[in-house]
Amino acid sequence: METEILERINRGVILRTGAYLTNDHFVLPSGRHAQEYVEKALATTEPAFTEGLGDVIAKHFADQPIDLVLTTGYGASLLGHCVARAHPSRPRFIYANKQRDGAGISQVSLPREFRQYFAGSPRVLLIEDILTTGETVKGLVDLVNSLGGRVVGIGMLWRRSKKVKFTVPLFTLVDREFPTYTPEDCPMCRRGVPINREFLAESPPEPSRQRARRAN
Ligand SMILES: [Zn+2]
Repeated sequence: METEILERINRGVILRTGAYLTNDHFVLPSGRHAQEYVEKALATTEPAFTEGLGDVIAKHFADQPIDLVLTTGYGASLLGHCVARAHPSRPRFIYANKQRDGAGISQVSLPREFRQYFAGSPRVLLIEDILTTGETVKGLVDLVNSLGGRVVGIGMLWRRSKKVKFTVPLFTLVDREFPTYTPEDCPMCRRGVPINREFLAESPPEPSRQRARRAN
């Protein structure tokens, strides 16, 4: 099937989970405005959909022998479990812990109990849910390399930025970078669409122009 058609089907599934929000008005953490948003916490709330999406990723990497599926974060781990369950190699599923260091930089570390699985240079498939900066996945790649494993691929639900590139094979169910605007150029602001504050709770304060409009 055409990649574009497949992507549209996958996007439809993610839309049905409630994680893909469209025709709305969001303020992104960067301060830019967007009509669409992907709320990653909602992407894995329906087990049947999570399993279906996991199947698609597992099928893509089915020809590749895999020893371990590695993730970090709750949502990615639910998906990673489904991928591992569906992959013909019957890989083991493990996760890394994610925390921020003193400088606010995201760091991943492997629980001590999982170190034994890195004896013998395992082939590792990384699974991520929504990829924005790629910082987490890069951390996982470094972690695997430092432990003597080999990353054979990266599977994910959604890559939000095409600027993020990797040297290992990447498979994403949806590869869509939606348009964002400065508040001055935002078509939703111009039309007076209220900003959705249910999501992105840590948004910066809205411009005074917005507050004035809302008060009217
Ligand atoms: Zn706007």
